[in-house]
Amino acid sequence: YKGGIRYHPHVELDEIKALAALMTMKCSLAQLPMGGAKGGVQTDPRYLSNDELMRLTRRFTSALGANIGPDYDIPAPDVGTNAQIMAWIADTYMMSLSHPGNRQHGQSVVTGKPPEFGGSAGRDKATGQGLVYVLEQTLPELGLSFHQLTFSLIGFGNVGSWTARLLAERGARLRAVMDRSGALYHDHAIDPTALANHAQTTGNIAGFPHAQPIPVDQFYSIPVDLFIPAALEQMVNLDKARAINCKALVEAANAPTTPAAERYLLEKGVTVLPAILCNAGGVTVSYFEWKQNRQAETWDADVVDDQLRKHMHAAAQRVRLAAHRYRCDLRTAAYCAALEKIDRVYRLRGIFP
Ligand code: NAD
Repeated sequence: YKGGIRYHPHVELDEIKALAALMTMKCSLAQLPMGGAKGGVQTDPRYLSNDELMRLTRRFTSALGANIGPDYDIPAPDVGTNAQIMAWIADTYMMSLSHPGNRQHGQSVVTGKPPEFGGSAGRDKATGQGLVYVLEQTLPELGLSFHQLTFSLIGFGNVGSWTARLLAERGARLRAVMDRSGALYHDHAIDPTALANHAQTTGNIAGFPHAQPIPVDQFYSIPVDLFIPAALEQMVNLDKARAINCKALVEAANAPTTPAAERYLLEKGVTVLPAILCNAGGVTVSYFEWKQNRQAETWDADVVDDQLRKHMHAAAQRVRLAAHRYRCDLRTAAYCAALEKIDRVYRLRGIFP
């Protein structure tokens, strides 16, 4: 099983179950040899010292015991967790193995580790990079190209900031961005690299001097080609959908759009690119990391990118074919493609005993 571990004050069991179910769909759509999982701790890491964060992580890992393992359930970073936290999880798990000879194998209990400690090249940017590869396939169908494309973004953490930087490298322009500290706008383009440096130092986007602060209500109505939610679940509700002015809504976050909002956007002719396709790059490079650890290999960044591009193009193609076959929207198509594979496996295995 594969899925992220989240540290957030509002984590709930039902939410984690839903996110795990989405991971099952995502792994199936990307044809990774894993099922879905998720985990979380109700805490706000922003208010913990480094030492407290480490102790919490080690205690949590120790309590999970045999519920995780390199051949069983392999967590990864999600909202509020990062490479350092993955390193603590791996270390705690490795040190809990009684036979020192097994310890190196124990390192692959988590992915998203720092590169110096078994992490993969490209894991940091993987979710954003995967999204860009999906867009390589889908923009032509929308009559759009990267050059001069405009976009706005909710969330400027791992997924949001990498998506912005990688899109900007292709010539796209970030016109508006919002995080938990407020919203910013620029009539031409916000420089995502400068903004990422600012957010790295201050913890959020507020106070960035090269863009204009705007009220959150105004943020949603700024006209853009792509509207990209990359923060938390269900942030785009019907009210917000009525304000949004875009050609496509590209789900970088998990489940960011409510069903009512999606129905409204589809009726208006807005394309909705679903999360299980758009953000599958993260779990795909996580799988590459697990594979490298187990084979004692270190792939170059261009090998990772090349493999990721192949996986994402193939997944986008599966969704496109399912949409034609079932004459349906892209989210339904993505679920159909994912479920078809799971269905085939269940049929082949049968029920035993
Ligand atoms: P993160 O913790 O790095 O960043 C979260 C961002 O959301 C921050 O910029 C934060 O300010 C913003 N945010 C939080 N609450 C907000 C609010 N109320 N209004 C506006 N902005 C708010 O998290 P992340 O890893 O970038 O994950 C973002 C989303 O992408 C989540 O849905 C996550 O499950 C999904 N995802 C992450 C990965 C990954 O590799 N990290 C992979 C696949 C999917």
